[in-house]
Amino acid sequence: MLQRIYDMIEQNYDEMVDIRRFLHQYPEVSFHEYKTAEYIANYYEKLQIPYETNIGGNGVIATLKGKKPGKTIALRADFDALPIDDQKEVAYKSKIKGAMHACGHDGHTATLLVLAKVMKQFQDELHGTIVFLHQHAEEIPPGGAISILESGALDEVDAIFGNHLWVPTPLGEVTTKPGPFMAGVASFTITVKGKGGHGGYPHETKDAIVIASEITTQIQNIISRKISPFATSVITIGKFEAGTSFNVIADEAKLTGTVRYFDHQVDKQIKEKMEQVIKGICIANDATCEFVYEDGYPPVVNHEEEVDMVFQAAEKIPEVQAATISEAQMAGEDFAHYLEKIPGAFFFTGANKEGHDYPHHHPMFDFNEKAMPIAAKMLIGAYMEYQSSK
Ligand code: MN
Repeated sequence: MLQRIYDMIEQNYDEMVDIRRFLHQYPEVSFHEYKTAEYIANYYEKLQIPYETNIGGNGVIATLKGKKPGKTIALRADFDALPIDDQKEVAYKSKIKGAMHACGHDGHTATLLVLAKVMKQFQDELHGTIVFLHQHAEEIPPGGAISILESGALDEVDAIFGNHLWVPTPLGEVTTKPGPFMAGVASFTITVKGKGGHGGYPHETKDAIVIASEITTQIQNIISRKISPFATSVITIGKFEAGTSFNVIADEAKLTGTVRYFDHQVDKQIKEKMEQVIKGICIANDATCEFVYEDGYPPVVNHEEEVDMVFQAAEKIPEVQAATISEAQMAGEDFAHYLEKIPGAFFFTGANKEGHDYPHHHPMFDFNEKAMPIAAKMLIGAYMEYQSSK
């Protein structure tokens, strides 16, 4: 059966590409994916697979119940785009200004839709139930996953698998890892309020730039001196705003940044230490500081058994030349929320497009479309492994 499924996925490759390229031209940013959700719903309507819309927002869930007994397993694809102007010169370039599928979620969607079309043909032989989970808003916290879980739509799901097309890895390589796989994400804003004045009379002011600079360098010591070297974590200040003119001392400075971690305890520790450092520096400089720390996504922690199933699935796909244990990634993913509630695994399908090396979230981003059928085979392969092991 698996081989016949694989063959049919190959036969439908052109449609996969067509869907991906259509979605690529009409991207919609997180929480505004109305037409994309409608497109997905229409596809299931035509397939005559039962579906529900507006799950926890713009989410769409279709359910294919096999004629044979088995477990219920969700296969997830996200479908939101990013607020970026597409700078590629290709026929399928984004037609929407300020929106672009720069992370490959168009490919995830095309992969899952065509897989659903194929699996409909196998309904009589199919064990268990496939839940095709099309998730909105992966890119911006709080994300779509949390509200989809809260809707109760996944209450009957026994396991969940998710794929990300991944351009840093070559085509034919699948990577994942048991345990912590992708980082937890938090963001923060620090506002320093000093006292402005004449650039030639610093002693009459409280220079917000000097104070904020001290904070910028001191909080780096939290990672190197306060957190265990074994607890991988990052603090990055990505934005430093202050000042109006070369000869005016700034009265206010605003720093915004992100924290990455793999352990909730470390996240808590970093937040506390930051608070302490910021407070201390502000007291020493007689300034006032505001500190807002917001938790985004928890870390993606893969379940061991399901990761094994992903590797077993990879072995049965001839185009997968290598299935390897990945390093943990400092990028985040709201798939993390599912894994806190449901056993499952998230994996990367290598999608490098030779001669076109731009990272995810880049205005020139593109991926190798031949990775889509591999991803489809991986998802259904993991599903089959689960059914036969339980
Ligand atoms: Mn993504």
